[in-house]
Amino acid sequence: MPDSQPGRDDLASWWASRPTNYYDATPNLARVLASRAGAENLRTMEPRLRDFGRAVAAVVEPAVAVLERHREQPAHVGYDAIGRSIEAVEFHPAYHRVGQAVWASGMLAAPHDGRGAFELFALFYLLSHAGEGGHACPVVCTVGLSRAVERRGSAELQAQFMPRLRERDYDNCYRGSQFLTEVQGGSDVGANAARAVPDSEQLGAWRISGEKWFCSVADADLFAVTARPEGAPDGTRGLGCFLVPRTVDGVFPNGYRIRRLKDKLGTRILASAEIDFDGALGWPIGPVDDGFRVAVEELLNTSRWLNAVGSTGIMRRAYLEASSFARHRRAFGRGVGSFPVVREQLAVMKAEEQAALASTVALTDLLGRLDDGRADDAHANVYRFLVNANKYLTSISATDVVRTGIEVLGGNGTIEDFSPLPRLYRDAMVFESWEGTHNVLCAQVYRDCVRFGLLDHVLRWTRAELSSAGEGAGADGRAVAAAVEALEPRLQRSLTDGEHAAAHFRRQLDRLMRAVQAACLLAEAAVEDADTGKAAAASLFVRRHLIPGHDPEDDADWRDLVDEALAGDAG
Ligand SMILES: Cc1cc2nc3c(=O)[nH]c(=O)nc-3n(C[C@H](O)[C@H](O)[C@H](O)COP(=O)(O)OP(=O)(O)OC[C@H]3O[C@@H](n4cnc5c(N)ncnc54)[C@H](O)[C@@H]3O)c2cc1C
Repeated sequence: MPDSQPGRDDLASWWASRPTNYYDATPNLARVLASRAGAENLRTMEPRLRDFGRAVAAVVEPAVAVLERHREQPAHVGYDAIGRSIEAVEFHPAYHRVGQAVWASGMLAAPHDGRGAFELFALFYLLSHAGEGGHACPVVCTVGLSRAVERRGSAELQAQFMPRLRERDYDNCYRGSQFLTEVQGGSDVGANAARAVPDSEQLGAWRISGEKWFCSVADADLFAVTARPEGAPDGTRGLGCFLVPRTVDGVFPNGYRIRRLKDKLGTRILASAEIDFDGALGWPIGPVDDGFRVAVEELLNTSRWLNAVGSTGIMRRAYLEASSFARHRRAFGRGVGSFPVVREQLAVMKAEEQAALASTVALTDLLGRLDDGRADDAHANVYRFLVNANKYLTSISATDVVRTGIEVLGGNGTIEDFSPLPRLYRDAMVFESWEGTHNVLCAQVYRDCVRFGLLDHVLRWTRAELSSAGEGAGADGRAVAAAVEALEPRLQRSLTDGEHAAAHFRRQLDRLMRAVQAACLLAEAAVEDADTGKAAAASLFVRRHLIPGHDPEDDADWRDLVDEALAGDAG
């Protein structure tokens, strides 16, 4: 029998080489934080990031992997042992151990200001190395709800709910959820049929009735629910956004029934339900006729920002898995990572992840400025554009990157206990559709460009990022500038010709976002040492996406760039 031991030894050494701390495994994170958030802010948050990077590797990932592998999915428990309706969701105890580690990181307690935005961004990026992990969605929904209540809620709502929404102790916190989607439409929220009527006893309280079709974090303590107040106009304009506690007496369900939990492609250990509300008691967050604005600006924008952060964390993990595997695996007598075609795949994965991180950290900077009151009109307009456009593109890139990672691992890449990649792939697919499908986000960006004149601000900001990269950006900088130049008249045509836009704006937006990402990446590279590989990654990215007709075969620098991109940042 041939000796199979060397092959197994290679795999064992790969396993042994995997990171024990995801913060330390990604020096690029510290670099981008230092340049965007400032060295002082980085110093303040770094111990917490390092602790959590370790916790993700030691606590979160192993528990999530086992829960998924053993199909330990949440279970709906409609009644207690003596037949009373409780509408509970039961999880394996390991699920709650993960929750304790996540909440203990302080990500829910991060202040809604400039530094807090960066800290939440960084912690959530680390968490997403384990995919959705059953807790990423609850974190996102809780942050969104806490922003909504803090910024729009009445003093009574704030006093009653804020302390536990900002709690670090998982066992004492309030977890949030957000229910907009109904069976007749998730994209078309204006078609919401759920109704709200004033409560006959409590002044300021309402009763919510109707069916919600996609309700993630069905086990949350506090639901944010969109519903139409009696007599309000049709469409999004008439909607209210209500805070509905799971229970009003501390035990029994507040006027709702879970029909069933959904059996999903990904995010499997997260409880997503179909729920019927029948007279649930709730309070409007902000003016009752301004609910759609609250839902979009506080809940959905938070979700879309963090969705992009999560997609980026998933990409980084896929790269770490694939690149380390390629260093240890041998085929045909040589390391898999020495085949030029594999090297190119890895370098492209890395460039895509770094580009996604670059645009997402820039978005985080804009959010922090808005929260601190440091943003001017231009910042606000670029934020409005980027929060939607960035979610769209990063979620697509995440699926592409994980798919390539699976290919690098070969057949083993498809095996559930061999690596997290199958799970990350499933989660990335879900990240693509929730918080807005691609077409819908593109349509939203288009409408905002027409209505608020965003395009000029975005182009100016992109060019400013590019000029901050300076002369060092060289031919890459010029290629991005040329791409923006060529795109501008096309975008302008779309703004005045709706029919043209309906057919072509999505393609144009792809290109514009690639230019945004390239400009951010080049700006980062300009302040980094050459040996980080960032400039090479940026160059690969520019050539792949922004130089029309670029063919690596005719590009004498291509293979050197691949090597330089991989030589930087270990992993
Ligand atoms: C796992 C999971 C969990 C979720 N959890 C929640 C939750 O907790 N709360 C919640 O409210 N929702 C949740 N959702 C719902 C999610 O937000 C919706 O699925 C999403 O908004 C899309 O809505 P839809 O599924 O009804 O698709 P549809 O709106 O039916 O869209 C179908 C297709 O039509 C396209 N389309 C629609 N309108 C346009 C247009 N104007 N132009 C071009 N194309 C268009 C879409 O892009 C899509 O490809 C969840 C979804 C998933 C998958």
